[in-house]
Amino acid sequence: MIAHTTLTSTLKEYFGYDSFRPLQKEIIQSIFEGNDNLVIMPTGGGKSICYQLPALLLEGITIVVSPLIALMKDQVDGLTTNGISAAFLNSSQSETEQQDIFAKIDEGTIHLLYTAPESLSYLEPIFNRQKISLIAIDEAHCISSWGHDFRPAYTNLGYLKNRFPTVPMIALTATADKATREDIVNQLNIPNAIQHIASFDRKNLKLEVRPANNRIQQITNFITKRSAESGIIYCLSRKTTEQVAEKLQNVGFNAIAYHAGISHEQRSQIQEDFINDTCQIICATIAFGMGIDKSNVRWVIHYNLPKNIEGYYQEIGRAGRDGLPSDTLLFHSYGDVIQLQKFAENSGNVDVQLAKLNRMKEYADALSCRRKILLNYFGELISEDCGNCDVCLNPPQFFDGTVIAQKALSAVARVKEQEPIGTVIDVLRGAQNATILNKGYQELKTYGIAKNIAWLDWKQYITQLVNQGFLEIAFHDSNKLKLTTFAKDVLFKGKKVALANLIEIKEITEAQQTKKTKAKKDSLFERLRKLRLQIAQEEDVPAYQIFNDATLREMEAERPMSDEEFIRINGVGRAKMMNYGYDFIKEIIAFSKEKKKKTRKVDTTLKTYELYQKGMSIEEIAIERKLAETTIYSHLSKLYAQGKDIDMMQFIDIQDLESIRKAKKELDSPDALKPYYDYFEEAIPYATIRIALTILEKEET
Ligand code: ADP
Ligand code: MG
Repeated sequence: MIAHTTLTSTLKEYFGYDSFRPLQKEIIQSIFEGNDNLVIMPTGGGKSICYQLPALLLEGITIVVSPLIALMKDQVDGLTTNGISAAFLNSSQSETEQQDIFAKIDEGTIHLLYTAPESLSYLEPIFNRQKISLIAIDEAHCISSWGHDFRPAYTNLGYLKNRFPTVPMIALTATADKATREDIVNQLNIPNAIQHIASFDRKNLKLEVRPANNRIQQITNFITKRSAESGIIYCLSRKTTEQVAEKLQNVGFNAIAYHAGISHEQRSQIQEDFINDTCQIICATIAFGMGIDKSNVRWVIHYNLPKNIEGYYQEIGRAGRDGLPSDTLLFHSYGDVIQLQKFAENSGNVDVQLAKLNRMKEYADALSCRRKILLNYFGELISEDCGNCDVCLNPPQFFDGTVIAQKALSAVARVKEQEPIGTVIDVLRGAQNATILNKGYQELKTYGIAKNIAWLDWKQYITQLVNQGFLEIAFHDSNKLKLTTFAKDVLFKGKKVALANLIEIKEITEAQQTKKTKAKKDSLFERLRKLRLQIAQEEDVPAYQIFNDATLREMEAERPMSDEEFIRINGVGRAKMMNYGYDFIKEIIAFSKEKKKKTRKVDTTLKTYELYQKGMSIEEIAIERKLAETTIYSHLSKLYAQGKDIDMMQFIDIQDLESIRKAKKELDSPDALKPYYDYFEEAIPYATIRIALTILEKEET
C-alpha cells in the first residue's frame, strides 16, 4: 500500500488534477502491491495515468510498449509539458539519438521509456544495466487476432514476464470482449493479473442517429453550428473520404481527407495539423484515430454505418476525452447495410461478422435509449434511460400506421416479392420510370395509391416495417423485400401497426440544434485558446497538451489572477504553472480589465444556484456548465456564505467536518486554505476544506 496523500499530491503536482477518475487509484494501489494488472477502460477513460503516476514514484525505469510511433511521441510530449522526463526509442531514430537516450537513462533521469514491440531488442543494454520498475503494455488488444488492430509483434511480448518475473506488468485496452481479454493475459503470461474493468459509459457523449438523406446538407448544418470545433467524419471508403472533404471544402470548411492510400509524410502532416488545431475537420477511413489522443475533438460523425459496435464505440470515443460535452452523429442507410453484408460474407468468420453487423443495425434502428443498448452490448446494465441520446431527448411519437402498413405490404405482395425497397416505393407513388413501365407495374392495383407520402418518408416507414418484423430484406437475393408471417396478420387479420411520427422527429431535431450556441469570437475562452496555440507553436507540441479545453473553460469561469488561484484550476500542475502561469494570468487580467465586467464572478455562481434549485446534482451542473465539479462546489460554498438556502451537509463527511473543526482551533483560524491542506498532509482536498470552513463560519455567525 502507498499513502493516499502521496497519490493525490503526485496527481496534482504533476498532472494538475484534483481527483482520480474511477478505478485509477485502485489500479495504482494494485501496482504498488506488486500485482500484474489488466485494465479495461473506454477510450478517454484515463488509462495512461495508471502507469505514468506509479512510474514517478517507483524506483527504476518504467517500460511502456505502445503500437505507434505517433502515439509515443504524443505521450512523451504530454509528459514533458508536465515536467516529467520521458523518452521513446524506435527504429526511426539514428544511432546517436539512441545513444543519447541511453546516456540519460544511465544518469537515472528518465522515468518512462516508450517503445514499439518491434524495437524491444534495442532495449537489451537497458535491461541488463537498469532496474525495471514496471512494464506497461498499452493498447494490449493488439496482441489478439480476435481484436481489430492485430499486430504480430505483440505476440512476442510473452517473454517479458519470464525475463522479469517480479516486475509488475500492466496491460491496458479499451476492447472489452472476453475472448480478447483472455488472449491478453494468456499471451503475456500473466494469468493471475487482477482485472480492472471500468464502466464503459461516457456520459458526456451525446448519441444521435439519423437517416442518411442529404448527408452533405445535414453535415454542413451540423458543422456550421460548431464553427470552431474539431471533428472527425468517418467514411467507409477512401473515395468517400475524398468526396466528402471536397464538398465541404467547396462550401468553405477547413476539411481534409485521410486514408491509407495517402503517403506516409502527408498523413503525418494531416495528423499534426489536426492535433494543432490548424485543420478543423478530418474525413477519414477507420485508419485514422488510433495514433492520436487529441483531447478536444468535439464531435464525430459516421457518414456510413460502422461494421460493428466495438469499432463504432471506439471511434465515437475519440470525441470528448477531456470530459466536456461532445456530439456524435451516425447516418444510417440500408445501402451501407448491404455493402457491409457483402464485406462480411467475404471475410474469414462470416457468422461472427454478420451477427456483429446485425447488432450494429439494431442499435441504429433503436426506438429506445441508445446508451442502454450500447452498454448492454459491453455487458453493462443500466436501469435508467440516459437522457443524452436522441431517443431520450426526443422520444418518438407513435400513431396508428395500419393503413400505411397495409398499403406498403400489399404493394410488396403485388410485385410478387420480387423488388427492392426503391421500386416498391415507386409503385406506391405512381412513378413512371423505365423499370415500372417495362414490368407493367402501372397496371397494379396498388400503383400510385400513396402519392401523398414523400419518397424519403416512405423509405423510413418501410424501414420501420422491416425493423418491426413485417418485412424482410433478402440480402442474398438482390435485396428484394419479402413478406413475413406477421405481414399476413396485417393484410388479412386486421392487425394494427404503430409507426413513429417522422415529421415530429425532424422538427425537434432541428429545434434542438439551433439551441446550440456558436463559439463567441471575443470570449475569454477564445483568447486563452489563441494564447495556447501560440505557445504550442513556439514549443512545437500539440495545443491541447498545454492545457485541455476543460482547463481553459475553468479558467474562463474562475478567472484566476494569482499563482495561488491559478494552481487550484483542475489541470494545472506545478510545471505548467511555472511555465505558463504568468502568460495566462496576464491574459486573464487584461481581458477582465477590457471588459470591466467585475460582476461576472457573481453571475457565474448565480447561474450555478439556478441549476441547483432545479434539483440537479453536482455532476449534472458541472456537465451543463462545462465546469469542473470542484468549481461547482466552490460556487455553492460562496452562495451558502451569502445566505442562500443550500444543504451543505450533504457534500461533506461528518468526520471530515469534525477534523477540520479541530484543525481550525489548533491552527488559530488562518485566512487561507493551504495551512489546512498542509495540516492534513494533503489528505483532505481543497474543495472539502472550503465546504467545511463555509459551514463552520456560518455556525459562528
Ligand atoms: P485513454 O488512454 O484511456 O484513452 P487517456 O489516458 O489518454 O485515456 O486520458 C484521457 C484524458 O483524460 C486525458 O486528457 C487525460 O489528461 C485526462 N485525465 C486522465 N485522468 C484524469 C483525472 N483524474 N482527472 C481529469 N482528467 C483526467
Ligand atoms: Mg490511451
